[in-house]
Amino acid sequence: MSEITAARKEKPPTSGRIRDEPRSARRKPDRRQTLIGIAPRAFPRYPAFMAYRICKSIELESGHLLSKHPGNCKFPHGHTRSVEMVFRADTLDSNDMVVDFKAVKQMMGDFLQQFDHSLCVNTEDPNYAAFVAAYGERIIPFDREDPTSEVMARTIFNFARHALEKAREGSGEYPVRDCVTLERVRVWETSSSWAEYGE
Ligand SMILES: [Zn+2]
Repeated sequence: MSEITAARKEKPPTSGRIRDEPRSARRKPDRRQTLIGIAPRAFPRYPAFMAYRICKSIELESGHLLSKHPGNCKFPHGHTRSVEMVFRADTLDSNDMVVDFKAVKQMMGDFLQQFDHSLCVNTEDPNYAAFVAAYGERIIPFDREDPTSEVMARTIFNFARHALEKAREGSGEYPVRDCVTLERVRVWETSSSWAEYGE
C-alpha cells in the first residue's frame, strides 16, 4: 500500500469537546433542552467578541434643502426617511434583552418627531430667515452646515447617546444597564441610499 493510500485510510483526528467526552456522557439527555430540541452544548463556543444588537427604527416625512448643492438638492424637497438606532451589549439582562424597545422610545422622547413634516435648513442659506418667518418651528436649523443625511445621522446619534447616558442613571420601569452602548445611527434617504454615523 502506498503512503498516500495509507494516509487516506487513516481515521480523521477526533477533536472538540463533545468527541472527547465519554460515550456514556454523550448519550445522556441534556436537561437544558431548548424549545427547538437542541441542547445548548451542541453549539460551538463563539469567541468572546460576539455581541447582541437591537435596532429601533422610526419613519419620518422629512423635508430639507442643501444650500451648497449644485443640483436639484438645493431646492426644498422631502424624503420618507427611516431612522435606525442600533444598540449593543455583550450580555442580556434579566429579561433576556439588550434593552427594552420601550426604554429606547422613552429615552428619545419627542426628539425625532420634530423632524416629521418639517424642513431642515442650513442657517447660512440666504432664505433661512424667510423660511423661519413663514413656518416658525417647522424649520429645523442646522448651524452653518447642510442638513445632509450624514449630518442628520450625527445629530441624532449625539442626542441618542446623551439620552442613553441619562437613561442609565434612571431607575424607571425599563432600566438600562451600563454595558448597553449606542453603536450607530443610520438615516435612509431613499430605498437604496443611507448615511450612518457611529463607532
Ligand atoms: Zn434630499
